[in-house]
Amino acid sequence: MKKIEIFYIHYPPFIIDGNELFRDSAPNWSRYYPVIDGNLCLIALRSLLIKYENKLILVDTGFSENKEFQQIYHIKKFRSCDEILRIHGFNPEQITHVIHTHLHIDHCGGSFKLDKGKRRKPTFPFAQYFVSKKQLETALNPSIFEKDSFEPELIESFTKHHNLVIIENECFLFPWLELAFFHGHTAGLMLPVIHDKDQILFFAGDLIPTYIHLEQEMASNFDINPLRQLAERELFLETIINENHKIIFQHDNFLKEAKIKKQNNKYVLSD
Ligand SMILES: [Zn+2]
Repeated sequence: MKKIEIFYIHYPPFIIDGNELFRDSAPNWSRYYPVIDGNLCLIALRSLLIKYENKLILVDTGFSENKEFQQIYHIKKFRSCDEILRIHGFNPEQITHVIHTHLHIDHCGGSFKLDKGKRRKPTFPFAQYFVSKKQLETALNPSIFEKDSFEPELIESFTKHHNLVIIENECFLFPWLELAFFHGHTAGLMLPVIHDKDQILFFAGDLIPTYIHLEQEMASNFDINPLRQLAERELFLETIINENHKIIFQHDNFLKEAKIKKQNNKYVLSD
């Protein structure tokens, strides 16, 4: 087996209320994560591009071009997913697979683009689009608590896409690419586990958005079921430690990847 090539795709960081993200008050969480103003903090938005043999697999596509989101999340110098890929030296036409961890606005907005006639078209014309069945069902019929996390016009585009693959259960998409399911953040969060020749990489997405979320009691107000989120996270962290996975953080602006160990009953960075 050849080595799998991994590229980090960075969208412009965005600003959110840390009290929501860390489900805690600023005097507490700001001891671990920088506060920029009042309760606000700056978080990263990171995607993965995985290159192996003739496959070029993109994981998540950032925000859409909707200006309202750029205002709400204080995104300076917005660039769309395809623009950012081009900066990294890739063309949208080269992408063969797009894996959506879930369909919240900051994870799937770049998957479709408005053409000159204002019709929404797939940004990656030759790629298969992957989403979990549970997540698609949730996005089409969200609860009142989760409604604002979805962009309805975009979700509709997914349902109409001829190249959409709906994943019902946890599986191996390829012998080296596993899709693991979690349901505490949102129903059917689908996270890739990459089994490379000499290491296992886990894209922790919104299961462990930042390093600070390694704290056992640190759920977020964006989790639809915080207790389930914590239980699923703890269970998976045990696997991560036993199998020596490297974690990739999607939203930590200061740490993009790490190995973890357990010390005095806490999960900490391994040296
Ligand atoms: Zn989310």
